Amino acid sequence: MLNDNPHIEKPPLPSMPAGVVVRETICKTLLTVSRLGDYSMNCYVGCQHACAYCYARFIQRFKPHEEPWGTFVDVKINAVEALERQLRRAKPGAVFVSSACDGWQPLEERFCLTRECCRLLIEKGFTVHALTKGALILRDLDVLARGPSRVAVTLTCLDESLRKIWEPQATPIQQRIEVLRAARLAGIETGVMLGPLLPFLTDSQDYVDRLLERVAEEDVDVIWVDALNPRPKVWESLVVVLRRHYPELLSRYRAVLFSPLVREAYCQALHERVKRAAERLGIADRVVACMKQ
Ligand code: SF4
Repeated sequence: MLNDNPHIEKPPLPSMPAGVVVRETICKTLLTVSRLGDYSMNCYVGCQHACAYCYARFIQRFKPHEEPWGTFVDVKINAVEALERQLRRAKPGAVFVSSACDGWQPLEERFCLTRECCRLLIEKGFTVHALTKGALILRDLDVLARGPSRVAVTLTCLDESLRKIWEPQATPIQQRIEVLRAARLAGIETGVMLGPLLPFLTDSQDYVDRLLERVAEEDVDVIWVDALNPRPKVWESLVVVLRRHYPELLSRYRAVLFSPLVREAYCQALHERVKRAAERLGIADRVVACMKQ
């Protein structure tokens, strides 16, 4: 039997989500060599969380879908078997879960693929580095606590009103904080990705101070900070949100993303703000600024 958690064996299974096209697919391999760890792992192509700034949209270049990002998910239905095969030869290392989707998006409640793959990885001596915006990961803390793991959540803002605009289907902010608490209580290392900070909305000195303060209160082990990045297909999505909610910011976002001089100055200034806040709070040793110009 694959599942050893009584919670995930209780019928009925969660129903398929309305408004999302779900396809079951077959994969040859699951682990990919990655600069985010030794490997990355994605049990799904596509992500129901539908964040407006999501860089994982780039995957549509290689795996085109007619549906917009956030409204399709391909489920690698043989993920566990493919991983099992791969692990017979792969050298143990750190696995980033997930780099091109959220492994704990709502569909995972039904398919349990990320859970089972994490269980397998830990059994075989791999380290799982989870990053999610889904409180569903609480279900899997029992598995993650069995080996060297890290549970990290992403926070781009502290306001639910902003979260609903930018990350409409992801778990509310307070629940993500609760994930950190539960992981720490389970003895699991924790982390927070503050990013991408949203230009002119959540990147002021005051906002950066508040974000870092909030995260420091949770005593997380590592904090990454990232700026908004211009990746393929991101701009088209940003324009929709900006036109609707912040038309006055449209040209400023364009400059920050696409004007090299503006971007360089922007990233440097953001880096300084993060550094000031981290030093003031005495957490500079835990903060990694990953701003790319
Ligand atoms: S949770 Fe991550 S992968 Fe999913 S839409 Fe948001 S940024 Fe993209």
